This record gives sequence, structure tokens and C-alpha cells, in this order.
Amino acid sequence: MKLPPKATIRQAIRDRRQWVINTLTELVRYPTLLGREENGQRYLAGIFDHLGYATRMEPIKLERIKDLPGFSPVDWTLEGKENVVAVHDPGTSQGRTLAFNGHIDVVSPEPVKLWSSDPFEPRVVEKESGTWIYGRGSGDMKGGTLSYLWALAALQDLGLEPASKIICQSPVEEEATGNGTLAILERGYLTDACIIPEPFGETILTHQVGVMWFQVRVLGQTQHVLGAGHGINAIEKSWLIIQAMRSLEEEFNQQHNKPEAYRDIEHPINLNVGTIEGGDWASTVAGECVTRFRFGLFPGEKCTDLMRTIEERIAEVAAKDPWLKENPPQVEYIGFRAEGARFNIDGDFGRSLQEAHELWRGGPAVELKATCTTDMRFYELYYGIPATCYGPLARNIHAADEHVSIESMQRVAEVLTSLIASWCGIKRRRS
Ligand SMILES: [Zn+2]
Repeated sequence: MKLPPKATIRQAIRDRRQWVINTLTELVRYPTLLGREENGQRYLAGIFDHLGYATRMEPIKLERIKDLPGFSPVDWTLEGKENVVAVHDPGTSQGRTLAFNGHIDVVSPEPVKLWSSDPFEPRVVEKESGTWIYGRGSGDMKGGTLSYLWALAALQDLGLEPASKIICQSPVEEEATGNGTLAILERGYLTDACIIPEPFGETILTHQVGVMWFQVRVLGQTQHVLGAGHGINAIEKSWLIIQAMRSLEEEFNQQHNKPEAYRDIEHPINLNVGTIEGGDWASTVAGECVTRFRFGLFPGEKCTDLMRTIEERIAEVAAKDPWLKENPPQVEYIGFRAEGARFNIDGDFGRSLQEAHELWRGGPAVELKATCTTDMRFYELYYGIPATCYGPLARNIHAADEHVSIESMQRVAEVLTSLIASWCGIKRRRS
């Protein structure tokens, strides 16, 4: 069957607006930072239950994923952390199956003093540009999750349901490793396509870079400052490494080193010096310093090649420094080992999404080449499932005063109802 007229769907979506605002606000209240995702996951599982889906908590089994391609090494406890998976199974299958993936974890709001209010006490703010919800995770990406739930709930309110299987996935660990989504796919929750409503402003993601985390440990020689002339300061030696990584970054971003798809982006490969920990006393020459970095890589490049380049560069720096030559810096890999990925917007699924967007917005969606990673890579690279990001507009994600646009979420929900109808088929809801 066909969807009812647009005006009817639009009204059903409008009628769910307050429910969405209340649910999103509640979900943002759970500070689902790395390692603290559990309570937020349980709350979300309750929402899936309420919508009538078969909801399961799926604990991660390290043994099952640690040797899979795309696994990222960690130095924290992964075993037993729970993903949530909720399945809508209509019994028959008239179309193709679809996954919605929205990670539950959020990045740290620190330093909280930069926020105008408590990051985990969400605020609904009316502006000239519409209604926005403020709070850590409101955009990235609890607002994305609520956007697809908005579409599914509105269809239910109209007495309809997707005519093929829908699998809602709420992984942990997206912001650090992606191991949550990897574990969901390893468990066999596979579909014909996947949408990740990351907050990229109603664009369709076609490319994303890879991301690698590494840390460099430099040892110095401790000494009381009285004899500072003789000690070796590990913090100051680490500066040599930071400079070397910055010049490597500049090389990667030179026009002739960029693949075709990234030529029109000025600085696609970003290095971030994320944390630095060194020394332990103001009057002692710093004896050890660990700097944590994040580096990007282009789609098609291998993490192992980037690792080798980084290690070679650091070895070159060390060879020129009498102390580092004798005491070579140690490179360690913890967290993201994510390769870049592409989505074929001209394939069946890309066309279905683009048509759904055009139907509601009157023109094609902007295509996005992202300079960050998302969990989309697992579907595309390792499971052959077409996957992309299509989600609402948010501002200040990973920064102070993060906020998401309710009207944009509403528009995403509209488009998703049409995508569900064309991809999965639609039928009367069983009572
Ligand atoms: Zn995200």
C-alpha cells in the first residue's frame, strides 16, 4: 500500500512533537559518557518496548570481536558493556530490511565552566530560528535517534507499520572505538541498508575519513630544579614530536596528496593533540610525558600504513636528538583504528533516500564529505551493507552549549517516513 497524503503524515508527525521533546530531554539527562552508558541504554530500551519492538540488551563479548577487521584496541573494560537492539518484525517481508543506528555515548562536556548551563540538565530554547534543545548529546546523537523514532512513532499513530524488518541499534563506544556497532553486526543483526542519523544537517554522507588514535610516551631524566641544566625534561622533548606530527599533517593536506573526492576541501586531514600528561611536581624536571593524538586518513588508506609513517617520522626526530636517540619515544595505539569509507549515493539505497528527501524538500540533499568518522564504515567496509548518515541540524557538537534543532529533526522524520515506505514497504498495523 501507499503512504497517506503528505499533509496527513505531516500532521501525525506534528502531533508527536511534545513526546519527542520530552523523550529527548529525558535521554540527554543520562550522562552516557564512555563507561557510563548503562542507565541511558536502559531508558532507551524502555522507549523501544513502549513502541512494541522486541528489545534486547546485547553484552559485548571481547573474544568474539577482538580479531575482526575494524576492531579498535582499548585499555578500558569492554567486556559486558551493553548495546541495545530493538527489532520490528512484521512477520512477512514485502520490501527490504533497514537498520537505524544511533550511538548512546557522548563526549565529555569538560570544561563545564564554558557552558551557559549544566550540560546534563537540558534546556528547551525558543529562538527566531526555531526550537532548540541544549545539552551534551542533544545533537550528537540522541537527537538523531529521536528523529528516526519520531518517524516510526508517527507511522504507528496512523495505524501503519513497516512491511519489512527494521532493526534499531543503540551501540556504545562510537566516540572512542566503534566496537559497539562491530559487536552488533557480529551478532548477526544484518539488514539490506542502514541509516545513521548523525547531526549533519540533513545532508547525505558520501565519504568519511578514517581516524586513528595513538599516544607517544617520552621519558626524560628527573632532577631537582637546582640542577635543571642537567636533567632532561620529557615535556619539552614531547614538543619535538608534536611539531613533527604537525608537519606530517601539512604534508597530507597538500593538494597533490589529496584523493580526487577531497580536492575541494581545504584541510580534510586533521591532527588533534588531545591530551598531554607529563611531570608530577612544579620543582622537578619532568621525567615522563604522554601525549595523545588523533589523526585522520583518507578513504582507501590503511591504518597500518599510517602507523608505519607515524613511527618513521618519530624515529627521524629521535635520530636527530642525542637524548631521544638513546631513549626512543614509545608509540602506543589505544582507541580508534578506523579506516575511511564511501557510500554510493547512486546505488538503490542512495537513490531511495535522495528521492524521499526531494519529495519533502523539493530538491536534492547536499552531499557531504566528512572530515570525521562514523560507525557507517563497519556496514560498508566489512558487511557490504549500504549505509549513510542522514540526520538533523545541530550546533556545537563536541563543544560547549551543544544544541539540536527540533524543526530539523521533524523534517528528518518526514523524509524517513517516505524512505521507510519505499525501501521496506508499508502496511496496516496489526492490532
Ligand atoms: Zn556521533
